Amino acid sequence: MLNNIKSILKSFFLLEIFKGLSITGKNLFKKPITVQYPEEKTPQSHRFRGLHALRKYPNGEERCIGCKLCEAVCPALAITIDTEMRKDGTRRTTKYDIDLFKCVYCGFCEESCPVDAIVETKIFEFHFEDKNEKIITKKELLKIGDLYEKEEIKDRANIN
Ligand code: SF4
Ligand code: SF4
Repeated sequence: MLNNIKSILKSFFLLEIFKGLSITGKNLFKKPITVQYPEEKTPQSHRFRGLHALRKYPNGEERCIGCKLCEAVCPALAITIDTEMRKDGTRRTTKYDIDLFKCVYCGFCEESCPVDAIVETKIFEFHFEDKNEKIITKKELLKIGDLYEKEEIKDRANIN
């Protein structure tokens, strides 16, 4: 009986509506938390793992020695490497492909690399227009490495 009266009074005085409006009113003049992406971006963790890159030494020599540790450790079997011996007795890759559809961005390849050749950059804005573009090649990885070398060095300095 008492509950019924309470319910009738609530309905009569539109209490629920006023309760809801009070929440709207409280938040009306607060700073909006919506981020206007892509113009605005949220801060990124220094541990963020995005698109891969292959690094070079300052003299332009490729870091990767084709040891295939990254290929072996990759849980998604996303990396495919072919290698050859150079005339000077050093080994380098002839093919370094990463299947970005298979990759789970776990960072194991980066962690396993003995010469810091393969890294994951902060790039997260990329797309494909054709299914064949899912494979990122050595040439592209080296290009990204060149572009992001400075950022990688800065990030590593911040972590250490
Ligand atoms: S980030 Fe992980 S899944 Fe992606 S290529 Fe590297 S090891 Fe494989
Ligand atoms: S990227 Fe590193 S772990 Fe992978 S093959 Fe090259 S040197 Fe070895």
